Amino acid sequence: MSRGFLLVLSGPSGTGKGTVSKALLNKRTDIVFSVSATTRRPRPGELNGENYYFVDEEKFCEMVNSKEFLEYAHVHSNYYGTPKEFVFDEIEKGEIVLLEIDVQGALQVKKNYKEAVFIFLLPPTMDELRNRIVKRGTETQEDINRRFENAFKELDFVGEYDFFVVNDKVEDAVKDIEAIIRSEKLRVKRH
Ligand code: 5GP
Repeated sequence: MSRGFLLVLSGPSGTGKGTVSKALLNKRTDIVFSVSATTRRPRPGELNGENYYFVDEEKFCEMVNSKEFLEYAHVHSNYYGTPKEFVFDEIEKGEIVLLEIDVQGALQVKKNYKEAVFIFLLPPTMDELRNRIVKRGTETQEDINRRFENAFKELDFVGEYDFFVVNDKVEDAVKDIEAIIRSEKLRVKRH
């Protein structure tokens, strides 16, 4: 059986993390997605337990207090966290567990679980990033501006990651991530 590991994917809002993750998960049966808990309201079409576990702040605090999260963070005015039991159970089974989380969360994982592989997804240009956030059409103008400002702050953290992948074409980004997975599977030791 091959070794399971944690794959952390971050990148500014609008880079296409969701699209790339979905394409990767469709293509590979050895990768499972870690469903986060969030206090954000569901967007149209999002399903509880599939995209996120949608919870209120009280429930989220309860989960924090009972140490259910591998990491959690306050992102764009909402809380998001990764339930840890699922992650470790799946790694134990030999699966690759995909976490799609922000930079703050990734830094916490890096501190607590160094064996994870960290990938930063970049947009081809910042103009394209703004277009993608606007085109999604699910956010208010204020939210769009906040997400775009946060994108610049997040870019400062690329150096904390093991790899970067540019998401110009989704299929190419997926291939790059698969190349990273392949090399991780062949790894003898870290650093
Ligand atoms: P969205 O609201 O667009 O689904 O996600 C907003 C941001 O929160 C994205 O950068 C996404 O990667 C991040 N995010 C989603 N789940 C988690 C999580 O469990 N932990 C952290 N730290 N960030 C998350």
